[in-house]
Amino acid sequence: MAFMIAIVGRPNVGKSRLFNRLIESQTAIVHDFEGVTRDRQYGDGDWFGRPFTVVDTGGFVPRDEDPMLMQMRHQAQLAVDEADAIIFVVDGRAGLAGADQEIFELLRTTDKPVYLAVNKIDTWSGQEQYLVDFYQLGVPLYPLSAEHGIGLDPLMDDVMEDAPKGEVLKDEPFARIAVVGKPNAGKSSTINALLGEERLLTSDVAGTTRDAIDTMVRVDGKEYLVIDTAGLRRKRSISQRLEEFSVVQAIRSIDRADVALMVLDATQPISTQDKKIASVVQNRGRGCVILVNKWDLVEKNTDTAGEYIKTLRKELQFVDYAPVIFVSAKTGQRVHRILGAVDQVFEQYTRRIQTAELNRFLEGALARHSPPMHGNRRAKFLYISQVATRPPTFMFSVNHTDAVAPSYRKYLENQLREAYTFEGVPLRTLMRQRK
Ligand code: GDP
Ligand code: GDP
Repeated sequence: MAFMIAIVGRPNVGKSRLFNRLIESQTAIVHDFEGVTRDRQYGDGDWFGRPFTVVDTGGFVPRDEDPMLMQMRHQAQLAVDEADAIIFVVDGRAGLAGADQEIFELLRTTDKPVYLAVNKIDTWSGQEQYLVDFYQLGVPLYPLSAEHGIGLDPLMDDVMEDAPKGEVLKDEPFARIAVVGKPNAGKSSTINALLGEERLLTSDVAGTTRDAIDTMVRVDGKEYLVIDTAGLRRKRSISQRLEEFSVVQAIRSIDRADVALMVLDATQPISTQDKKIASVVQNRGRGCVILVNKWDLVEKNTDTAGEYIKTLRKELQFVDYAPVIFVSAKTGQRVHRILGAVDQVFEQYTRRIQTAELNRFLEGALARHSPPMHGNRRAKFLYISQVATRPPTFMFSVNHTDAVAPSYRKYLENQLREAYTFEGVPLRTLMRQRK
């Protein structure tokens, strides 16, 4: 039997949506096991060569007298008993419900690893406060949107950690790279220059959407996943190129990446489309490296690069954290630097800072500049911890979240960056009111 993953949670949190996403990732076969009621659905999937079976437990309704609901609960319990890992799904928009807590307590009594998926986090901005509730459960969170297929990769990477290995697998974590930019900027050329046919490690790996083809590559002993190479490497028709014009394609790739390689055409002014893509990269919390391509075509004098960077920083403020490399995909100039930059950004993206260290940092930041009065109150910060990586996310415990002036939050973010740099990576902060 393949590695068995059970999806549990209250009704309506998005379990079946997640189930479908997971089996969509490959040759999806939905089993109809004999003797199993329709409440439980089984499907097969494959995560980078590791097969798994996923069970949608239907609804997990604790403590109810209704025979129908008791039956559902029984089914869920069976699934949990069978499972190697459990994905516990909660509704990020509804907050932590009493039933969630009860289910969680039940799950805790098993010795199976439990992964807390906070679903319906469709965008980050404005929705991140929804997450704060769930940190009470004291386990790492995986914010995601089953509906939009966002955030599945970090979850599945961890869930599948304990699964038996397939052939394509490596032990080191690897960066997922999305190459984005407007048509003709040189995305395909860059990929070809980077990878070269002979370095292709394996056959293509199907991505989380059926039409995307991801390619696992090894360069200098390191592995990378290049997202949706199908759309990039194939000779495309005019209509496909136009389709690519839509930012939608870029969003899809960015959603699944750790690091976005943003390709700009140095011979063209920075466009609205470039800005849109940059805003998506930042909003989705991705690492970023900016490639200023076709540098061979640019007439240069003493400070052409410096001038270009000035303009770029002004125009692309969303990704002000991204390192910039001037390249030519055509001549190969500085192409060898690209993956080194990706490695560095990926390292920062997945970096975790010790709580003790962070609290020393917080003490210093508060001492240098104490919180101002805001809304008739002064915020008192108690504690900081890093609650997530990819991107690094920090949670401040504070006596009153309303008392935190936006400018002071910004100050703390800047201080974090000053202390730990995090080059190429967006940072996120959350404010949690101490109970
Ligand atoms: P289940 O009862 O737990 O299996 O939940 P479903 O998968 O049937 O989803 C319940 C409802 O939530 C449906 O209307 C879904 O469209 C919606 N839903 C599921 N996932 C998401 C999501 O990521 N974002 C949003 N906005 N809605 C979602
Ligand atoms: P994509 O649409 O972003 O994938 O762009 P392509 O990789 O197909 O490149 C578009 C055009 O720009 C092609 O004619 C390439 O040969 C050309 N091109 C790409 N990179 C460079 C470069 O660094 N220098 C020059 N001179 N031309 C380039």
